[in-house]
Amino acid sequence: MKKSTFLTNSKRLYCDVFGHNYKLSKQITYHVKEYKCSCCGKEVTTNSNGYLTELTPKFRDINAALSKIYANKLARMKRQRINTSAA
Ligand SMILES: [Zn+2]
Repeated sequence: MKKSTFLTNSKRLYCDVFGHNYKLSKQITYHVKEYKCSCCGKEVTTNSNGYLTELTPKFRDINAALSKIYANKLARMKRQRINTSAA
């Protein structure tokens, strides 16, 4: 347990110096995305201001809810488009 903590810390140190290497891990909505650092595994998300912030359990919950709302919205928009084109 201690060993892996040290490994994470040394990787974090590398990231602190050279910057994180964020890769898109999850697209929540059109604007909100989750990123994961391919070096140290740190996860961040876009907050409501459009800035990157640490992906805390709270933000994970918010994003999970957001993605559900977004999926519903997309489905509704799709249905509306079909209705409009049919009428
Ligand atoms: Zn990193």
